[in-house]
Amino acid sequence: MSPPKHTNKPPVDTIVRRSDIPQSASRPVATPLFTSVVYASPSADTLDAQYEGKVDGYTYAREGHPNADILASKIDSLEGIASDGDAPGGIVTSSGMGAISAMFLGLLKQGDQVLAGDQLYGRSLRMLSQDLPRLGFETGFFDACDAASLEAAIQPHTRMVMIEAVSNPTLRVADVAGIAALAARHNLILVVDNTFTTPAVFRPFDHGADIIIHSVTKFLAGHSDVTLGYVAARDPEHRTAIYDAAVTWGMTPSPFDCWLAERGMHSFEVRFAAAQANAAAIADGLAGLPGMRQVLYPGRADHPDHALAASLFDGAFGNMVSFEIEGGRAEVNRFIEAAGQIPFAPTLGDVATTLSHPASSSHRALSVDARAALGMSEGFFRLSVGIEPAALLLGELQAALAAIKGT
Ligand SMILES: *Cc1c(COP(=O)(O)O)cnc(C)c1O
Repeated sequence: MSPPKHTNKPPVDTIVRRSDIPQSASRPVATPLFTSVVYASPSADTLDAQYEGKVDGYTYAREGHPNADILASKIDSLEGIASDGDAPGGIVTSSGMGAISAMFLGLLKQGDQVLAGDQLYGRSLRMLSQDLPRLGFETGFFDACDAASLEAAIQPHTRMVMIEAVSNPTLRVADVAGIAALAARHNLILVVDNTFTTPAVFRPFDHGADIIIHSVTKFLAGHSDVTLGYVAARDPEHRTAIYDAAVTWGMTPSPFDCWLAERGMHSFEVRFAAAQANAAAIADGLAGLPGMRQVLYPGRADHPDHALAASLFDGAFGNMVSFEIEGGRAEVNRFIEAAGQIPFAPTLGDVATTLSHPASSSHRALSVDARAALGMSEGFFRLSVGIEPAALLLGELQAALAAIKGT
């Protein structure tokens, strides 16, 4: 057995230069990390051919690198984007918000209007209500559970519709079929942020979407150690425009983050299946307990959108469970403290369970009345269920609920 030796010893006056990579008859099993910012081409003609798309080749990491492309192709597969299909592959960005920004900046021009679901991710709502109008894009909101409210809002300059299939944190299901039909009839670009549902539950391109967005930070990477995004377009021209916006505005990702995310994605499907099974068990285990006002899980027959979720998601209902305990802030604090083994953290999609409290985090900017209108009281929690044993989680949550009364 002989590992390759680095026989090509550089003369000492050239050690500043990069070394050759040792030749090996065998190949690495794990994906190598390509940190290089620049790539050297053998000639000016080759570089021309690269820029003209006649040969494949990397040039500068902001414009693309192997770790981003390897990650993108994995997410493409999950989203059903085949390498020999019509839709071009997706683009990895430095964050989920980077994907959303590149998408807006690439596809909209001044005066265009975007209509968005009124329960999108908090930062998306902020971008739509504050930042896009400041840049000359018009925005409006509608109730994604009710396609008629979209129809009423459409104007001649409406160009795009943006939704999430399941709302956060109240887990209401969008009328995707109705919205997609309206978008098609009015020639609007339909954008679906699929972070919350993941491709294990919902594949937007199968339901009329033109653009898919992901915060890869969440369940796809799955270990709360990278911030990344992904955007795919069905139309190659849209893809080019979004890619150019990402490269120009500097939203492209770090190789190391892509490498970590790819590593996390190897286990995505088994993690998600385990978390989803846990979520169903926990929702059933929490419902009806003393001190529990309501439990929301789309897989339960008592969820307001259960029938719609069952048809749209083909029997998969995700890993998110929301619930409302009786009482106010004092009870909320006691519950969080007693459930201390479950991190109280405003994120979702980690391999382990996390607990979030919208009134003090994602929805803190809203008034009490505005939160109530969305169905969120002070006692409202959202659980991103992970892959711990369900019995352990349920025991901890039941004990936390009992502890509220006991102190
Ligand atoms: C987290 C999240 C985002 C933003 O992603 P970042 O990676 O944090 O920038 C966008 N949409 C949804 C639904 C999210 O949960």
